[in-house]
Amino acid sequence: MDMKSRNQYLKELRREYLKLRLRKEKSKLLNEAEKRAKLERKYLIKKLRPKSNLDKEPGERKKRKEIYDGRIKAALVQCWNIFDYPCGLRLEPLLKTETDRLKKLGELQCSYETIEKLKIIRTGWKLSEETKKKLSEIHKGSRNYSWKGGVTPLRVKIWHSPEYKLWRRSVFERDNYTCVFCGKRGGRLAADHIKSFREYLELRFLIDNGRTLCKDCHFKTETYGKWK
Ligand SMILES: [Zn+2]
Repeated sequence: MDMKSRNQYLKELRREYLKLRLRKEKSKLLNEAEKRAKLERKYLIKKLRPKSNLDKEPGERKKRKEIYDGRIKAALVQCWNIFDYPCGLRLEPLLKTETDRLKKLGELQCSYETIEKLKIIRTGWKLSEETKKKLSEIHKGSRNYSWKGGVTPLRVKIWHSPEYKLWRRSVFERDNYTCVFCGKRGGRLAADHIKSFREYLELRFLIDNGRTLCKDCHFKTETYGKWK
């Protein structure tokens, strides 16, 4: 008996079963069905309820509700890259405080509407004050402490630094606020590091290592949105 014919059989059986009043009769019917359909009694009883999953179409499964649309997901991934792959707990406050800035810097390619949504996304789980206290006690002074809750990623710290702001402005001024790729002037511009910001520490604030890109050209660079 395949699944389809078995379900058919069970539906008919249910009709009979639900008509029966006496326990004895029900038991007899179940005994038969156990033999015929080779099913366990408990499973059978569950299937023979007035409303069981027999009424569902095969393949009809409970689907998780889609909470975030594609644009928000894409923006979330960008942020996650930019912030150096934090856990959800660390990501949440960064989304709240840094996304406006990211957008202004041309680092984040998404609409303002998406930004507003990013700010209210719950990526961390909520901890009670008591749990937080316990956690901090446990981790206090621990050398293998890998959970960096509340620690601002280096990159964000750098953005807030006067050196970075000066470097950015100097790059723009040198390039006359013009995208070095397509020649578009003004608008939303990004100061892009030519040599990896992450690897070449000594080149981080070197104006020669920067170039002005419009947001579209910046988006097309291979390293866009990466902590490079
Ligand atoms: Zn451009």
